[in-house]
Amino acid sequence: MQYNDKVVEHFMNPRNIGEIVNADGVGTIGSEDCGDMIQVWIKVDKDHLADIKYKVFGCPAAIAACSMMTELAKGKHLDDAYDLTDEQVAEALGGLPEHKYHCSNLAASALHEAITNYAVKSSTNKAIKITVLVDDNGTGDLQLEHGLSFWVEYGGKRVLFDTGQSDVVVKNAEMLDIDLAVTDAIVISHGHYDHTGGLAAVLDIASKAKLYLHPSAIKPKFSKRDYGTESIGMPNSALKAIGNRKVIWTEMPTEVLPRFFVTSRIPRVTDFESGEGYFFSDKNCRQADKFPDDQAIFFDSPKGVVVLLGCAHSGAANTLHYIAKLSGKPRIYAVIGGMHLLRACPERIERTIDALKQYGVQKIGAAHCTGSKPIEKFKNAFSEQCFTCSAGMQIEL
Ligand SMILES: [Zn+2]
Ligand SMILES: [Zn+2]
Repeated sequence: MQYNDKVVEHFMNPRNIGEIVNADGVGTIGSEDCGDMIQVWIKVDKDHLADIKYKVFGCPAAIAACSMMTELAKGKHLDDAYDLTDEQVAEALGGLPEHKYHCSNLAASALHEAITNYAVKSSTNKAIKITVLVDDNGTGDLQLEHGLSFWVEYGGKRVLFDTGQSDVVVKNAEMLDIDLAVTDAIVISHGHYDHTGGLAAVLDIASKAKLYLHPSAIKPKFSKRDYGTESIGMPNSALKAIGNRKVIWTEMPTEVLPRFFVTSRIPRVTDFESGEGYFFSDKNCRQADKFPDDQAIFFDSPKGVVVLLGCAHSGAANTLHYIAKLSGKPRIYAVIGGMHLLRACPERIERTIDALKQYGVQKIGAAHCTGSKPIEKFKNAFSEQCFTCSAGMQIEL
């Protein structure tokens, strides 16, 4: 067994070993392959890791990795500690023998679990609130436009989901006393202009926000209209603003915050949600846009799983089926967002209602491109459980 001196030194003198009584967060992780088991306890003070302790059942590599993990994470801001990876721990140890990388190198993953445990516990005390910043509907002083943007307050963090089609998102945020500068993450549902047009204006302000989008969101997109072809993809201003900025490309389902995910591409499994026939990925309108970029958000709330939709171009039912699978939960509490049923046939609307019923959805916020006739049918099916979103509306969960 070839362990380097640093690994041996940490194994002989492990730092911070032990247990914290009344810990703020606990994480446990085990490896089925080799039977290693790690438990991590954390104490949090003002969003920083005031203390970390662990118990580990495993080989010298597992013990050294835990010891190094505590050295790297102790005192750090929770966000930075949450970003720490098992690879970084191994690197800080000067490397581990090849076959130890995957089984014994789980200390950062265990810490990740402990921080998630803390975040979920503390978020149940903090209200989850969704504010509609941009929508096609609304009353009062806020500006309206064809587009969608939600401001989501979750576990003390703030996520902007889509940006509408212009700087209306910024103006409406100001009117609502929402400071976009404190945005922690921006998630883009898909590349259409009515979801990405405000991105440049937002990124100007939200300089610290992490940006999540699917690689296909930046590809050209077209719509075939009676009068010709229209380019409806991400505007140049947004492409330029993304430019050299660090982007988290959501090629896989991705955890944005603890227990707060974006789906990435949504598999098409239903037989009634095929394309509408007027969205294309080439300007000659030969290649139907399959919307690999279309993604939805889902997160845990005290009442159950909440789903946020951009336009649901992959189909609302497909989206719910996928989220039920990803979350492992058979029920969904709320579905809020655009469902793009404007031109849908009655059968599609009925079967979308069936899917919402299948998951026992209790709160349906129909926004943006859902269409007034489908909303009427939803209201008939779900009565007061269904409402129409409008700019400025606040939904507490
Ligand atoms: Zn769209
Ligand atoms: Zn849209």
